Amino acid sequence: MPTHEAEAIVLRQYSLSDSDRIVVFITREFGKIRAVAQGVKKPQSRMAGSLEPLNHLRMEFFAKEGKELGQVRQAELIHAYLAKSPSLDRVYAFSYFAEIANEIVQDNQPNPPLFRLLLASLEAGERNAANKALVRYYEIWSLRLSGLLPNYAYCSNCGKCVKDDGFFAWLESGQVRCTTCAQGRGLRIGAAAAAALAAMLRLSPGEFVHQSFAQDSAAEIERLSQRLLGLHLERELKSYRMLRDLLQG
Ligand SMILES: [Zn+2]
Repeated sequence: MPTHEAEAIVLRQYSLSDSDRIVVFITREFGKIRAVAQGVKKPQSRMAGSLEPLNHLRMEFFAKEGKELGQVRQAELIHAYLAKSPSLDRVYAFSYFAEIANEIVQDNQPNPPLFRLLLASLEAGERNAANKALVRYYEIWSLRLSGLLPNYAYCSNCGKCVKDDGFFAWLESGQVRCTTCAQGRGLRIGAAAAAALAAMLRLSPGEFVHQSFAQDSAAEIERLSQRLLGLHLERELKSYRMLRDLLQG
């Protein structure tokens, strides 16, 4: 069986038998992969601690052509983002990031920018706060790097630049409308929210996490990203409800 090396982040793991687990990774080189970690539930397993969710690691795995499941051969921990009693906002936010990545990254299709986004967002959340700004940033960029975020710079009908006045998003058709052309239809993104979106697309997560967000524009961007995610992902994101309650509180 061919062996591959990859830089990976663990998205989730589940039990396969008394001693084995299936681990789902996002990798820089291969996109999402699933692999069996044999013997990992045994106390003497060398890999046990390395394969916890949100661990960043270097790994070796076997994969047979055409087989869905690979096999983890070695795992060397680089950094554990949920180790050392993390705060609740980090647990919820990072779990939500992993759930989005699990839904949005394709099996065996490399998308290095999405890998870098997850890693940079985890770093920013660990160094600063796992706050609303960071959560919105991660959602919008996940959509963008998957080709699911329309270009919200110009009206799709008249071509007017909408960056300064805000716009209406017609979600199903992916269109953008200026106030005149929207005729009151679509999801309203006001001027402040449009400016925050533009800043998001310009800044790194470590920079954007410090941006202060007016309550109204934060809510508008949340509606936009949640509706777009709902439109494009087949499953409801389970971890979002708890995170949302925590961020509101
Ligand atoms: Zn227009």
